[in-house]
Amino acid sequence: MFQEVQKILKKYFGYSSFKKGQEEIIASILQEKDTLGIMPTGGGKSLCYQVPALLLPGITLVISPLISLMKDQVDALDNLGIPSTFINSSLDQQELEHRIYSASRGKYKLLYVAPERLESERFLQMLKNIPVSLLAIDEAHCVSQWGHDFRPSYLSIAALVNQLTRRPIVAAFTATATVNVKQDIINLLSLQKPNVYVTGFDRENLTFSVIKGVNKINFITDYLNSHKNQAGIIYAATRKEVDKLYRHLHEKGYRVGKYHAGLNDDERNQNQEAFIYDNIDTMIATNAFGMGIDKSNVRYVIHFNMPKNMESYYQEAGRAGRDGDPAECILLYGASDQHIQKFLIEKTLLSSDRKSNEYKKLQNMVDYCHTSQCLRKYILEYFGETNTNGKCGNCSNCNDESELADITIEAQKIFSCIKRMGEQYGATFVANVLRGSNSKRVHELGFNKLSTYGIMKEYSIREIIDLINLLIAEEYLHVTEGQYPVVQIRRKAIPVLRGEERVMQKVQKKLSAANVDSSLFELLRSLRKEISQKENIPPYVVFHDSTLHEMCKYFPTDRQSMLTITGVGESKFHKYGNQFIEVIQKYMDDHGISPRPVKIDSSAAQEHKKPSHLITYQMYREGKSLDDIARERDLTPITIQDHLVRCSQEGCAVDWDTFIPPEYEEQIFQTIRQLGTEKLKPIKEALPDQIDYFAIKAVICKYMIRKIPQAT
Ligand code: ADP
Ligand code: ZN
Repeated sequence: MFQEVQKILKKYFGYSSFKKGQEEIIASILQEKDTLGIMPTGGGKSLCYQVPALLLPGITLVISPLISLMKDQVDALDNLGIPSTFINSSLDQQELEHRIYSASRGKYKLLYVAPERLESERFLQMLKNIPVSLLAIDEAHCVSQWGHDFRPSYLSIAALVNQLTRRPIVAAFTATATVNVKQDIINLLSLQKPNVYVTGFDRENLTFSVIKGVNKINFITDYLNSHKNQAGIIYAATRKEVDKLYRHLHEKGYRVGKYHAGLNDDERNQNQEAFIYDNIDTMIATNAFGMGIDKSNVRYVIHFNMPKNMESYYQEAGRAGRDGDPAECILLYGASDQHIQKFLIEKTLLSSDRKSNEYKKLQNMVDYCHTSQCLRKYILEYFGETNTNGKCGNCSNCNDESELADITIEAQKIFSCIKRMGEQYGATFVANVLRGSNSKRVHELGFNKLSTYGIMKEYSIREIIDLINLLIAEEYLHVTEGQYPVVQIRRKAIPVLRGEERVMQKVQKKLSAANVDSSLFELLRSLRKEISQKENIPPYVVFHDSTLHEMCKYFPTDRQSMLTITGVGESKFHKYGNQFIEVIQKYMDDHGISPRPVKIDSSAAQEHKKPSHLITYQMYREGKSLDDIARERDLTPITIQDHLVRCSQEGCAVDWDTFIPPEYEEQIFQTIRQLGTEKLKPIKEALPDQIDYFAIKAVICKYMIRKIPQAT
């Protein structure tokens, strides 16, 4: 079976290895177990049901929440040579019946349906004629009111499962890992004793940054200038902000589009298409945009405002870099962001319980913006991962190359001006007084007589406001809530005013531009665009950026070498291979480039990139003993043991029973229950000497981490 799966992976999808967790999830489904896969956005969930769909008899019914994307998903499968179709409200009754009929005749392997369909009794009747082997539920958190995208029609799914002539295998997928949501998915979708797989939440190719106290608009324009021709999303908190930012950037000639719930359906669809087809570079949007968007070449996601919680942030930021190439996630923090979010929470009709839950999550989000520890570590721990590295080396806190500038004098001027104005005015008015504005209001209030009037003449209003924002973010100043926020002094500012403490500002060095300028890449990109227009499919459905980059690296010029490129399967080779080879060949001739060694498509080539614990895992899967692996790899047995623990936590299957002495299993388990898993030493000491640490770790993995025990 395993070989079958590998073959399909290569033949249809053009991949030679799995992403984390995929293999286990596919195996679980093929063993006819209900399965819940919790993977981050971009983790590769679709493949987890698409591969089984090809191996199982009958059809795989996919419940997918966004109608607008079904066509893209089906086009993408078409392009891989996998027969599939969709049913949603865009079809007329005749077409719908025709598709159902074809499905019942075995014409498709996958059938995508919107959840709202399931509310129609008639439709459920029609489904009875279709041999459904697997029911795959995408974005399964939509079934839960605790989740962020509750969709009532997801509640009809359980009824569907029971109505089908034969109960299908049910597999649910989501990126939301909170306990409430997980339990809701299992209960409300009536999963039967599901295998639950939680893969690591880390997205190694994403760089996380939080940037405070900058002029956000200037930052964005600088960023867009240095990232031309790259696709990205800018999220803002409200429609108004989106409109404003859009107008500004559009007028300056940037290739931008916008998306929010205030636009009509046509506008939204058009703008979304333009983005998906690379006709615009940057989408400016509220959080209404993006669910289910699987455009893989999004190179940056910038949050113009802080979102309401870490769940939303990670989901939105996670839309960057799905193709595995480096991508940036930048959050521009401003102190007023908090007020917007509080206002939005207040406006909801949530019960007070839920509201206070939302406030708590908001606070966690604010803490993320202020933490000085590794941002990735913060994120992963928020989502419940332990064992995270102290420093990832790929976030703005780990790579903090900023220089420190002393802004004590400026801070003192600002503080004392605020004080003299009676702590009753907003940042802009304070800035006006500091700059020495001649406005009527300043004179009426007599502020032109203050000793701080005009003492920051050499700065622009914008610069002074930025400084004030920075001092707010660093908690020297406080802004009141409400419609007319007022800036006040906090205790932390007092020693600065007295000259006892200094204020330092981090001056951010320019962020690295993740763009490799390659003229071959541009040639391949325009060929891709040409094909995309001709076939009316998005460019990334032709090939992902990462696939084009690999072509630039290996210069494949024949069938064999082309097929070793990640993302080139047989169907795509057949359709596009020769066109791409032609461009590559011409480029090589023009530039006098000699043929490169073929990319070696065996595991040996990947060995270099592969993290050490996964190499151990592979050897383990080949049946080697841990001692043998240690010897062969010249590592200590303890390291090898730790590798297995880590693999297990990342969702790889490990047969822990072989490492647990059966006669002690119960005793170890009870001891862990009593003492908790914080520290291993007390557990070891409480147990008989012959039980080693590894047996204890094995029990922890077996019971606590690998499979989440059933509630029932
Ligand atoms: P999710 O639904 O979990 O957000 P997708 O299913 O859209 O993620 O997959 C994310 C990206 O990863 C897609 O571009 C997909 O083609 C790619 N991908 C999936 N599985 C693999 C794999 N085994 N090897 C390489 N790329 C993969
Ligand atoms: Zn880090």
